[in-house]
Amino acid sequence: MDRTGAQDQDVVIVGASVAGLLTAAALARAGRRVTLLDRDDLPDAPEPRAGVPQGRQPHLLLHRGLRAIEELLPGFGARLRAAGAVPVDTGELAWLSPVGWAPSCPQLGILLATRPLIEHALRESVAPLPGVRVVGGVRVTGLRRGGAGEPRWWVDAVPAGWSDGQEPTPEARGADVVVDASGRATRLPRWLAALEVPEAPVEALDAHVGYSTVRVRVPRGRVVAPGVVILAAPGLTGGLALPAEEDLWTVTGFGAGELRPPRDLPALREFLEGVRDDALARVLAAGEVDGDVAAHRQTGNVRHHYERVGPWPDGLLVVGDALCAFNPVYGQGMTVAAMMAQAVRDADARGPLTAPGAAGRLVRACSRVAEGPWQLATSADRALLGEGPPSNPVARLMGRWIDELERMSKHGDLRAQTTLARMFQLVGSPVSLFHPLLVTAAVRTRVRGYGPLAPRPAILREEVGAPVVDER
Ligand SMILES: Cc1cc2nc3c(=O)[nH]c(=O)nc-3n(C[C@H](O)[C@H](O)[C@H](O)COP(=O)(O)OP(=O)(O)OC[C@H]3O[C@@H](n4cnc5c(N)ncnc54)[C@H](O)[C@@H]3O)c2cc1C
Repeated sequence: MDRTGAQDQDVVIVGASVAGLLTAAALARAGRRVTLLDRDDLPDAPEPRAGVPQGRQPHLLLHRGLRAIEELLPGFGARLRAAGAVPVDTGELAWLSPVGWAPSCPQLGILLATRPLIEHALRESVAPLPGVRVVGGVRVTGLRRGGAGEPRWWVDAVPAGWSDGQEPTPEARGADVVVDASGRATRLPRWLAALEVPEAPVEALDAHVGYSTVRVRVPRGRVVAPGVVILAAPGLTGGLALPAEEDLWTVTGFGAGELRPPRDLPALREFLEGVRDDALARVLAAGEVDGDVAAHRQTGNVRHHYERVGPWPDGLLVVGDALCAFNPVYGQGMTVAAMMAQAVRDADARGPLTAPGAAGRLVRACSRVAEGPWQLATSADRALLGEGPPSNPVARLMGRWIDELERMSKHGDLRAQTTLARMFQLVGSPVSLFHPLLVTAAVRTRVRGYGPLAPRPAILREEVGAPVVDER
């Protein structure tokens, strides 16, 4: 039985997190059954959960990601805002790079919220879509091809949390299309090996970045910076202090290798005091700590090159971290998942996903979506690891030009600053980095020298001299 039309199709998505939910949004339509299976019992409220161990870490949804989600799920931004997400212009963030502070200027709108709230708002938006079913407490254990007269795929699953030492017999669900959205923990390479599909090359680069995060309740108005970002660099630690719903701030320290942050609160305070600006330590000291320190160290870049596997099995897709996971300090994962979901939606609109070769083309399209963010993350991580300039002359030249723009921007060139911010937010093309006005400004700088560095922005209210008032 091979049902190629959208009607009467069964889609099974492994993983009901950000990538799975967004892919469901892309595929939902009347007549099609889209079932999301997740090993976690999915909470009714925004809460961290075991299947997403990174859930207590700060999650920046980039401008590009917010736009992509809004396109897939109109009204998502309003829903997130209504639930307490904090709107911020990225140009107002107190942003410290190794060169200096970014000058303040209008840039791009984003919404700041905790990861559990973002996921909750997505689940609330996707679950009511036609044909969508979100099923928690089910662990997928394997994938089999259907025989003659059967569905194309059988997805084997068992109840999650089975603990009497005996593996239960899997229950099989038939599907015309299977999507792996199971994140970094993906078992797809194993399942494909069992199906005798040639192995996909895996590329990995781990800068051994560690995160330690604590939530803080800060009296409203006490922190005047809309958020603080201090980038790590070779030999330098960094971190974030970002507001979220309910007057919560997440304060995070990060560092690579030997410089990874500690796991307990007194040591984390000390770590933050040792960051090259004490802004993060000051935000932490300004509030009341809510809960324990959450540490996370699984942050390596990992990319499965399924696009190089031929022939790719029809009716099988891979999205999100299961295809390509990034060092999260660049904030790209959810945005790339949203961009992949857009690619899925576009391919679905062009023709049946079950047609011969269609899944292979779509896997290649999703891999192309990951390419730019992968280059950005891995080249920055190579620098973080202290590797010299890239051997590829184009990449070397590009790196030097970006360094030059970085210097110009922190010395007050607003065009350079906005251009870099757009690149970081995955908006705009690399061509914009070479705008004639930027090139002219760079030549001018060569002749006249750089202007003064942008000043350090005020972080706490007392730094601007106003009295501290608890406005709650
Ligand atoms: C420390 C840290 C900080 C991050 N910060 C950011 C950030 O600032 N901005 C950003 O955009 N991204 C960030 N990310 C990345 C982001 O978390 C992911 O890219 C994003 O959630 C998309 O992931 P996903 O949906 O592919 O996988 P995940 O979110 O990891 O979800 C996978 C899902 O699959 C389920 N699952 C796994 N195996 C099975 C199975 N066998 N059967 C059933 N279900 C299964 C899991 O329970 C889970 O729900 C961060 C990541 C880390 C580690």
